[in-house]
Amino acid sequence: MKRVHIAPTLLDAQLAVDALSSLGIVTHIFNANAAGALGEVPFMQAQPEIWVEDDTQAARACEALSGLHNALPRDEKNCPYCGERNPGNFLSCWQCGRALPD
Ligand SMILES: [Zn+2]
Repeated sequence: MKRVHIAPTLLDAQLAVDALSSLGIVTHIFNANAAGALGEVPFMQAQPEIWVEDDTQAARACEALSGLHNALPRDEKNCPYCGERNPGNFLSCWQCGRALPD
């Protein structure tokens, strides 16, 4: 088992899992039910995580996911600290946790 992606929302996680399963890659989503617990757990722990069952397919999964994300037009902003892309409505970076500019 290897983690290949942390999705900003459960919907994003589901899209990623659908894309990977269409490639024959078996995945699991962790934290899928944590979305309702925001405020009770640290924010990072509530992000849905996508894990690949077969470690040898992790690289392929990452490649497929980066292609998927590049193909999705959406309102995003880049974190000025670590360069990670975040959804436009995020107030802090999911990757490094620092405040994002408006
Ligand atoms: Zn960041």
